[in-house]
Amino acid sequence: MKFRYTKSVPKNNDNATAEILKAAANPKVISFGGGLPAPELFPVEEMKTAADKVFDKYGKVVLQYSEAIGYSKLRKQIIDLMKERKVEVKLDNVGIVTGSQQAIDLIARMLLNPGDVVITEDPTYLAAIDVFNSYGANIVGVSMDDDGMKTDDLEKLVKKYPEAKFIYTIPNFQNPTGRTMTEYRRKKLVKIAKDAEIPVVEDDPYGAIRYAGNYVPPLKHFDRDGGVIYLSSFSKILAPGLRMGWIVADKSFMNKFVMLKQNADLHTDNLTQYIVSQFLIDVDIKKHIKDITHVYEHRANLMVKQIDKYFPQNVNHSNPEGGMFIWVEVPGVGDTNELFKACIRNNVAFVPGSSFFAGDIKPGTFRLNFSNMNDDQIKEGIKRMGKSIAEILSD
Ligand code: PMP
Repeated sequence: MKFRYTKSVPKNNDNATAEILKAAANPKVISFGGGLPAPELFPVEEMKTAADKVFDKYGKVVLQYSEAIGYSKLRKQIIDLMKERKVEVKLDNVGIVTGSQQAIDLIARMLLNPGDVVITEDPTYLAAIDVFNSYGANIVGVSMDDDGMKTDDLEKLVKKYPEAKFIYTIPNFQNPTGRTMTEYRRKKLVKIAKDAEIPVVEDDPYGAIRYAGNYVPPLKHFDRDGGVIYLSSFSKILAPGLRMGWIVADKSFMNKFVMLKQNADLHTDNLTQYIVSQFLIDVDIKKHIKDITHVYEHRANLMVKQIDKYFPQNVNHSNPEGGMFIWVEVPGVGDTNELFKACIRNNVAFVPGSSFFAGDIKPGTFRLNFSNMNDDQIKEGIKRMGKSIAEILSD
């Protein structure tokens, strides 16, 4: 059968991400590639207890169809989580999604016609690029520095593209760079967007995992006219397999969003929503996040120490204050897909920078994940990467 696919389906069968994950799946390979949390930190027993309670108390309810916007008790618990993040919201503003990835997809479906402009940080989250491309978007990147998206450049871009449909940003411990946007720039971004009447999609899966520096409120905190759509998730603070995320937005936007959510999957898994809600009653989530953060801090510091020891002296790397990623630039290395091949020969993996750029690819760049490997793997893996970089540079 010859299928006549829509424009949403990529023409070629290249799936760079799948290839990278496949190569990294070899048990001999130490992988800094995926964005995976540490599984040893998953609260398996506590989740099991919560699940038992839910089946005992609500068995017949949780196995039934439910509301598209999500379980109201869990949404109320999210209101409390948002309060701690300095964002005051009402129940109508909160919706549960099947991972924040679903919210990215639905928002793109709501706002993008083919050819529409989306403004993102450059580099940015690779699966967001894929989603925006699937709706035929024209992705325009804003360059970054250690303080996050350069808002002066953004200001020029919104003048150039006044019809841009939204600005997508990951202000905390960004994927892939690990960088965090300063408070000054957050306020400025919100103002630029408001003046230009362009909505902002603030994607914040990592913000709670801060191990250094000072807390910076979300862009949503500075939003006075409902232009900021805020996304977050239980993936990094609990477990990604749950596929449990949330959206906070203006009520009128939420009404439309829920209609599209209904089209996509009727509602997010009811059982899991109840289990997460019960877990939040039983377990001190703040302590759990503290425990995760502590482990990630140690791993990030160890990785930075090893990079400074084994990579060439002129290496540039981000110094994340939280999250799961370090962004590295090794001048002279060129296309890091070649470095990737050398690394695989030496049984170590990462994600080449080319995956994350919507526009021009910055040579010599790549992303390292530090959350998913133990101390010995970090020490040995970075050593192997240093050897691979030396091989590429001497070619
Ligand atoms: N946004 C960013 C920036 C991410 O890094 C990820 C996951 N890696 C997601 C969204 C998707 O998260 P979820 O598991 O909540 O769908």
